[in-house]
Amino acid sequence: KAKNPAEPEFHQAVHEVVESLDEFLDENPKYKHARILERIVEPERIIMFRVPWINDKGEMCVNRGYRIEMNSAIGPYKGGLRFHPTVNLGILKFLAFEQVFKNSLTTLPMGGGKGGSDFDPKGKSDNEVMRFCQSFMTELYRHIGPNTDVPAGDIGVGGREIGFLYGQFKRIKNEFTGVLTGKGLNYGGSLIRPEATGYGNVYFAQEMLKTRNETFKNKTVLISGSGNVAQFSVEKVNDLGGKVVTLSDSNGYIFDPDGIDGDKLKYVMYLKNVKRGRIKEYAEKFGVKYVENERPWKEKGEIALPSATQNEINEIEAITLVQNGCYCVSEGANMPSTPEAIHTFIEKGILFGPGKAANAGGVAVSGLEMTQNSMRLNWTREEVDNRLQIIMQNIHHTCSEYGKKDSGFINYVDGANIGGFVKVADAMLSQGAV
Ligand code: NDP
Repeated sequence: KAKNPAEPEFHQAVHEVVESLDEFLDENPKYKHARILERIVEPERIIMFRVPWINDKGEMCVNRGYRIEMNSAIGPYKGGLRFHPTVNLGILKFLAFEQVFKNSLTTLPMGGGKGGSDFDPKGKSDNEVMRFCQSFMTELYRHIGPNTDVPAGDIGVGGREIGFLYGQFKRIKNEFTGVLTGKGLNYGGSLIRPEATGYGNVYFAQEMLKTRNETFKNKTVLISGSGNVAQFSVEKVNDLGGKVVTLSDSNGYIFDPDGIDGDKLKYVMYLKNVKRGRIKEYAEKFGVKYVENERPWKEKGEIALPSATQNEINEIEAITLVQNGCYCVSEGANMPSTPEAIHTFIEKGILFGPGKAANAGGVAVSGLEMTQNSMRLNWTREEVDNRLQIIMQNIHHTCSEYGKKDSGFINYVDGANIGGFVKVADAMLSQGAV
C-alpha cells in the first residue's frame, strides 16, 4: 500500500488473489522462491499521456490517457480501453491485474493489459468523440501492435469509438492489421464479439446451475447496467427461457415485472446505443417502476448478473439478495461485488462466479478475432458461438478443478485465481528474471 498509494481498487483486487493463493503457494514453494507474486503485481510498463482535443465550440480540452501493460508472459498484452470520468491509475491497474488471470483462463495466448481515459463520452457529439479518439491514438499508436499490445472496448468504448481509434491507427502506421478488437464486421471484426461477454456470462452461469440440476428456465433474473454486457445478457437469458426484470444506469434502475422481452430489448438497444439516452426513459415508455439513485438488488430474483461497474453490490445488498432467494450470482462486470459481499455469497454457499471467470467470454472472442485477422478469414456466427460455449465450459471446469473444497462446495473465486495463476506463473518461471 505504501508503494501504490491511493489505489484502493488495485489493493482490493490483489488482496482477493493473494487470499486465494495463500495455501497453494505454501504447497508449491517454487513460485515463492521465484518471487512470482511480487513480480505479477508490478506492471511491466505504464504509459500515461496528455490527450488534447478541441470541442465543438472551438475550445481546447485536455484529458489523461493511460495504457497499463501488465504481463506478457503468455502472449501480447490484451485488454480493453475504458472512457469514463472515474478512470484513474488505480482502477486501470486493478482491471489490468484481473485481466492477466482472465486471459490465462481462456487458454488463448494473451497477456494482460488495460487502458483508457477520464474522458466522458456522455453528452459529446460524434465529432467530439472522433477528435478525442484521434488524439488518444496519436500517442497510443507507438506503444501497441498486433504482436505487442491489442486493446479492445470496455465502458464507454463501443463500436463507434473502436472505429475512430482504428481509422487513426491505420492512417498513422499505413498498415491494416489486427491491432484492436471489437472492430466493425466490414473491417476485420468478428461475429459474436459484441454479444460475447453477455452471452459468455450466461453460459458460465448455466454451467454453475447445472451443478445443482438447475437451468434458466422460468427463473427471474436481476441485471444491472444497460450497456453492451447487460443488453446481450438479457438476450441470452430470454433465449434460455428466463425472465429479466431489472436494468440500470448510473442514475437509477427500472423494474419491469413482466420481463424485458425481445421487443423491449430492441428499444433498450435503440435508447442506449443510438439515442444515447437514460434508462429512466424505459420506465416512462412502458409505464413501469423507476427508482432513482438506487441499484436493483432489493428486488426478488433467483439469479443476479451484475453488469455495470466495480463495487456495485455491497455487503447489505448481498445479504438482501440471498434473503430474497437469490442463489446464483455471476459477474458480467469486473469486480462488481465488494470483498464483504463475496464473503457473504460464499458463506451462504450460493453459486458465485467471479468476473475474471464469468465475463471472460468477451476477451476470448477478442482472441478469436485476432486469430481470424491473422488468418485473414472470417468464421461464421455458429462457429464463433460454439467456440465461445466450449471456452466457457472449459473455464468452468478449471475453476471447479482448482476451487472444489472437501465438502464438495466449489469456491469459484479460489478456482479462478489459482487456475489463472498457474499458467502465467509457469511461463514466468521458464522465462527467468523478467
Ligand atoms: P458500457 O459502457 O456499454 O455500459 C456500462 C453500463 O454500466 C452503463 O449502463 C452505465 O451507465 C453503467 N455504469 C458505468 N459506470 C457506472 C457507475 N460508476 N455506476 C453505475 N453504473 C455505471 O460498458 P460494458 O457493458 O462494456 O461494461 C460493463 C462492465 O462489464 C464493466 O465492468 C466492464 O469492465 C465489464 N466487461 C466488459 C466487457 C466487454 O466486452 N464489453 C468484457 C468484460 C468485462 P451509464 O450509461 O449511466 O454510464
